[in-house]
Amino acid sequence: MDSQHRLHRDADHGRVLPDVRGLHTLSHIEHPLLDRLPLVNTVRRMHVLHHNPDFMHTRNFNLTFPICDALFGTSDLDKGVIGTLFNGMSDAARKPEDRARVEAQQSERGRAAARSL
Ligand SMILES: [Zn+2]
Repeated sequence: MDSQHRLHRDADHGRVLPDVRGLHTLSHIEHPLLDRLPLVNTVRRMHVLHHNPDFMHTRNFNLTFPICDALFGTSDLDKGVIGTLFNGMSDAARKPEDRARVEAQQSERGRAAARSL
């Protein structure tokens, strides 16, 4: 878990409902079984992008099931409600503009790592 995840978790856990905390906590626990549980794996995948600073103000706001993200277009996925709910861990349906931003970030990180060698 990186420091961004810890900050978000610590800031939110005292003021959200228990079921929200439960699903949010499952989004932060490292375990391969959780990546295979339907619905839970979708929430986990979407929550990772939500903590990305370039996306946290525009994408994947739901801490439980991403119904509102699908309805209001704030999901990073180009799918409807049912498709979003059962997307799982795949990034294949990520919106093209979001895919380009993620790839640009990864390229920049690669260049920064190469400069530090
Ligand atoms: Zn979180």
